[in-house]
Amino acid sequence: MGEKVIPLADHRYAASIPRIPIQPAAPTGLLGDRLGRPLTDLRISVTDRCNFRCSYCMPKEVFDKQYNFLPHSSLLSFEEITRTARLFVAHGVRKLRLTGGEPLLRKNIEALIAMLAELRTPDGAPLDLTLTTNGSLLQRKAQALKDAGLQRVTVSLDALDDGIFRRMNDVDFPVAEVLDGIAQAQRVGLGPIKVNMVVKRGTNDHEIVPMARYFRENFGGGIVLRFIEYMDVGATNGWRMDEVLPSAQVVERISAEFPLEPLEAQLPGETAQRWRYRDGGGEVGVISSVTQAFCRDCNRARLSTEGKLFLCLFAHQGHDLRALLRGNFDDAQISAAIGEIWTGRDDRYSELRSALHADTGSGQRRVEMHYIGG
Ligand code: SAM
Ligand code: SF4
Ligand code: SF4
Repeated sequence: MGEKVIPLADHRYAASIPRIPIQPAAPTGLLGDRLGRPLTDLRISVTDRCNFRCSYCMPKEVFDKQYNFLPHSSLLSFEEITRTARLFVAHGVRKLRLTGGEPLLRKNIEALIAMLAELRTPDGAPLDLTLTTNGSLLQRKAQALKDAGLQRVTVSLDALDDGIFRRMNDVDFPVAEVLDGIAQAQRVGLGPIKVNMVVKRGTNDHEIVPMARYFRENFGGGIVLRFIEYMDVGATNGWRMDEVLPSAQVVERISAEFPLEPLEAQLPGETAQRWRYRDGGGEVGVISSVTQAFCRDCNRARLSTEGKLFLCLFAHQGHDLRALLRGNFDDAQISAAIGEIWTGRDDRYSELRSALHADTGSGQRRVEMHYIGG
């Protein structure tokens, strides 16, 4: 049966109310979508706000004082997030990643982490609980996050050069504070730490080798640096293909200075291709979302700040789980609805990207990155 599409009150993104199956099936932990992909990973956006204005994500001209961020009443509460996460875990999710916006801006995020850290898989194992942050508040918060039960963090960092970094975050935030935050995260044991750099040709591509050198030589080589191709998410960043530096060129540039060799993937669905320095100086990863789509292994669902479930980073439309959470439905019903949504999934935007870019006539608005996280 088709879903009903309802406009949101703030006209932000279209969402449909999920259908509750008449006879809810119990979760098996073995869901497969239409392309046979399992559901193992849930990304939870805890706020749509951010203290940075990275031009590729929240350009200042759009996300200004007039921008209507979500009111507090729209956000899922910690109880609602935890309930939803528990239902996803029963369906096979093993990894929870908190994101945003900037997740460390969500008030009392440690309390949510403590609640999520209590969740167990059906076999009684703890989940892989992690968080992606711009690092600006990490120095202050790392210890509390660790104490609450967070296992590790991924920090986004686009340049070491202070001028370039300040320009890219567009709020004049100094790079030294992020580096201090990374050091503090390592000190308190929030590892293994990953650092993600979005590469924009002509903006920060000359920072690739300095970044590689820095993370080889510091932090005891224990930090894995990953280079992400600049993606055409959302509709506000003015994406152009000529600003994408293909990962193959990233590897070439690093290898010219510090020879690299490929490593086997550790897990199915791993987004990064892994490379190791031949001299034993650690490893780096490249995430080729544009030039080498990895949709066929995509095992991720995304829960927006206001409880809309998105099955693809490039989706036009979400599934309004909040309507169910705040309606008169029990866990079995909501769980069955989630199961049905996943089994109907056939998204593979990145594989179809070139064809879709030619189609500019649909008029549908794609979801923005700060709203569903990375
Ligand atoms: N504020 C946090 C941060 O920056 O780490 C978490 C949310 S942010 C949306 C998650 C990740 O998405 C970051 O690593 C960011 O660099 C990445 N990202 C945002 N826009 C992107 C784009 N257009 N292309 C590639 N990555 C992007
Ligand atoms: Fe904020 Fe992260 Fe987006 Fe930058 S990438 S604007 S830090 S949410
Ligand atoms: Fe997954 Fe969509 Fe990205 Fe493909 S484009 S890897 S389906 S999120």
